[in-house]
Amino acid sequence: MNEMAIRTRGLRKQYKKEDAVRDVTFDVAAGSIFGFIGPSGSGKTTTIRMLTGIEKPDDGEISVLGQPPAKFDQRMRGRIGYMPQNFVLYPDLTVRENLNFAASIYGMNLRRSKEMKTALELVELVEHQHKPVNQISGGMQRRLSLAATLIHSPTLFFLDEPTTGIDPVLRQKFWQRFKELQADGRTLFITTQYVSEAAYCDQVGLLIAGRLLTVDSPEGLRMQAYGGDMIRAETAQHISDGLILDLQEETYVRSVMRRDPHRIEIGVEEAGTDIARLIKWFEARSTALTFVEEYVPSFDDIFVSLVKRHRAGE
Ligand code: ADP
Ligand code: MG
Repeated sequence: MNEMAIRTRGLRKQYKKEDAVRDVTFDVAAGSIFGFIGPSGSGKTTTIRMLTGIEKPDDGEISVLGQPPAKFDQRMRGRIGYMPQNFVLYPDLTVRENLNFAASIYGMNLRRSKEMKTALELVELVEHQHKPVNQISGGMQRRLSLAATLIHSPTLFFLDEPTTGIDPVLRQKFWQRFKELQADGRTLFITTQYVSEAAYCDQVGLLIAGRLLTVDSPEGLRMQAYGGDMIRAETAQHISDGLILDLQEETYVRSVMRRDPHRIEIGVEEAGTDIARLIKWFEARSTALTFVEEYVPSFDDIFVSLVKRHRAGE
């Protein structure tokens, strides 16, 4: 099955004649988690607002669950759950009343106490459920807005920065819940500023200044950034420029980066076999390795590398 929950082609949105989003094209497979990652102001919210039909693109095409958002009817809206970045809550109502209100908007029947309980537990607001929303913190309000979005059972979720400002432990719990929703057959389109959250996604779109740098799987991003596995090595002798140039000529070597005179990072095809090759290669040049190991770069490193590559290619 290769059904697409979302398709966009050449999306563009301008504000005051400036492109907020330009030439954005991607597909989101039904039943997948798509992470839309980019710094503040990169166009994540603008894109979500076009996908949900709130904003009209200046250019390009969108199909969401097989329909253009401009033509969504009530039934279609019921199949979509949207957590906006700035959720409008009723400040005088309690946490529980707000959640109840959201549930009724989504047309849930009155026997929903189990769903309410599950949602409140997920966002850890059970003990605060009777407080008015204007007396809880901004972070708690965010958690409540996520609960309000998750309380009904849409096919497709748009979550705009559900983890921003949330502590790491709770963030992990949220992602577990998103995975469960996926296992239940739903599609999730999630924006985040935390690049490490790429690891939880099936596909990641990297958005910089309104342009989609790349769309790939987490593993694919790693490959794009480094061309393969990464190895760290240290030498007793100084590593010369000449040595680095020679190393780059080796067929199995994808990239070489000198961290300091004694430490280098080498991208290779396959760490398992190439570590032995490297040890021999250095020995043959009278530069014994004092340390060598494979390492898995963090997504922070991967994104920095991708952004640099992109800039260099421009
Ligand atoms: P993100 O969600 O990634 O932080 P946004 O989509 O909110 O980014 O914003 C992208 C760009 O578009 C920013 O430069 C922002 O200032 C601009 N922008 C967003 N919404 C509006 C608006 N309603 N009017 C004018 N400019 C806007
Ligand atoms: Mg935003």
